[in-house]
Amino acid sequence: MKTDNTVWHQQHITKQQRAQLKQQKPCLLWYTGLSGSGKSTIANAVDALLYQQGFHSYLLDGDNIRHGLNGDLGFNDEDRIENIRRLTEVAKLFVDAGLIVATAFISPFAADRKSARNKLTEGEFIEIYIDTPLALCEQRDPKGLYKKARAGEIKDFTGIDSLYDIPEKPEIHLKTAELSVVECAQIVVNYLVQQGFISTQTKHPSKTCK
Ligand code: ADP
Repeated sequence: MKTDNTVWHQQHITKQQRAQLKQQKPCLLWYTGLSGSGKSTIANAVDALLYQQGFHSYLLDGDNIRHGLNGDLGFNDEDRIENIRRLTEVAKLFVDAGLIVATAFISPFAADRKSARNKLTEGEFIEIYIDTPLALCEQRDPKGLYKKARAGEIKDFTGIDSLYDIPEKPEIHLKTAELSVVECAQIVVNYLVQQGFISTQTKHPSKTCK
């Protein structure tokens, strides 16, 4: 139940101080695209590259969050909106903690992406459009979901019987039919360097990951 009796408590340590500690500028990498377009794959590859270079990032994977925090939500329009609202609030807290945060979920509606953008400080929201033709997503079908949707076993499936608003001005536009996963991930990391979120002259020791 909503209460009006809570007051935002100002914390002593600021976002800037936490970011300085980590030697990075926090931001939110917002991956959007059809199911099977490559959001999770590319987001994970970026996460690994950042980790290797000693930066602190965290990936909020849409499917994983639906197992816990958003386990009570379905895929109708109302639940999709609530799914994004909660994820945005969590992402915002993580950005406040000084991290380079990534969210990888379809986020089909432009209005929801805009509302997420508006909740963050200007410049912190980086929309990454994973642009993969529906036919290729359907051919990849990594989770067998298109097959089920075509068979009528899943309703409200984006691209089949639910809309996807193509991002008009994403900060980064990746065409996965033309670029490899590694190339896509490197474009994202290069963007972070160019925009001053991270510096390659990092003082962090480099890490290896499996
Ligand atoms: P999403 O998170 O968007 O639903 P996934 O990342 O789970 O999509 O699945 C995308 C599938 O496409 C994976 O099996 C991945 O290996 C494959 N794939 C092939 N080429 C690419 C590419 N260039 N970029 C991203 N994924 C690719």
